[in-house]
Amino acid sequence: MPELPEVETVRRGLEPAMVGRRILAVDCRRPDLRFPLPERFAERLTGRRVDSVDRRAKYLLLRTDGPEVAIMHLGMSGSFRIHAAGAATMPGAFALARTKDAAHDHVVFDLEGGGRVVYNDPRRFGFMTLAAADRLDEHPHLAGLGIEPTGNALSGDLLARAFAGRAAPLKAALLDQGVIAGLGNIYVCEALWRAGLSPRRAAGTLARADGGPTVRAGRLATAIRDVIAEAITAGGSSLRDYVHADGSLGYFQHRFAVYDRAGEPCPKPGCRGIIGRSVQSGRSTYACPVCQR
Ligand SMILES: [Zn+2]
Repeated sequence: MPELPEVETVRRGLEPAMVGRRILAVDCRRPDLRFPLPERFAERLTGRRVDSVDRRAKYLLLRTDGPEVAIMHLGMSGSFRIHAAGAATMPGAFALARTKDAAHDHVVFDLEGGGRVVYNDPRRFGFMTLAAADRLDEHPHLAGLGIEPTGNALSGDLLARAFAGRAAPLKAALLDQGVIAGLGNIYVCEALWRAGLSPRRAAGTLARADGGPTVRAGRLATAIRDVIAEAITAGGSSLRDYVHADGSLGYFQHRFAVYDRAGEPCPKPGCRGIIGRSVQSGRSTYACPVCQR
């Protein structure tokens, strides 16, 4: 499943291919993805010029000179592929698609200048919809989302305020999209390991009695911002590395310290722990029982 850094990498790949170009045609090859495509989806986008490709949590937001924004989500297996007008790939194109099977090409955007952007999704858990640009924040998919894990808004102070009094384990509290939006299982595991905090610790222990942040809260905020920023940087280098490949956007290789590493030695210098796997709220948790307290 693409996590936030992958979605951000897709955004950065689509941006140079789409922004400033008019959408000449949209070919919807089936009526639905995870949900039905909205009424007259193609018609409502056709002729519009793309003003920006933005991201909120794991949603891609295609803003145009029209009154609506296209909200796009990659689901479990969605990816975009960019076909250039000529022989060369368009700027920002890169490889590592899950599949090139054209049977799973569901939505095709033809762009001014001859370029083409193809959405491929074998499992069809992704979706596309349209929302009024001036009321975007009220859209059911976006309303209630917390802060982005990428900026300075994520601080020890914010975590202390959000978690004060909460007995829920840190792992569950961090996956609450109303606190931090777009933070998924993998990066929660990685950030907790980096901050040396147990995923089972009560979330409320990050707040002092007076409501202020503990040292741990500040450490965790920094760890979250760092793991996400490093993964986005890794995605960015994959964009550059694969610029000459087949034009597919979406997935890149990234090495994790604890995620999916059960039974391996903890990579923290001086720690002799072995990474363990457990299940919390139906999701796998990977953690070091020695240095995460
Ligand atoms: Zn350890």
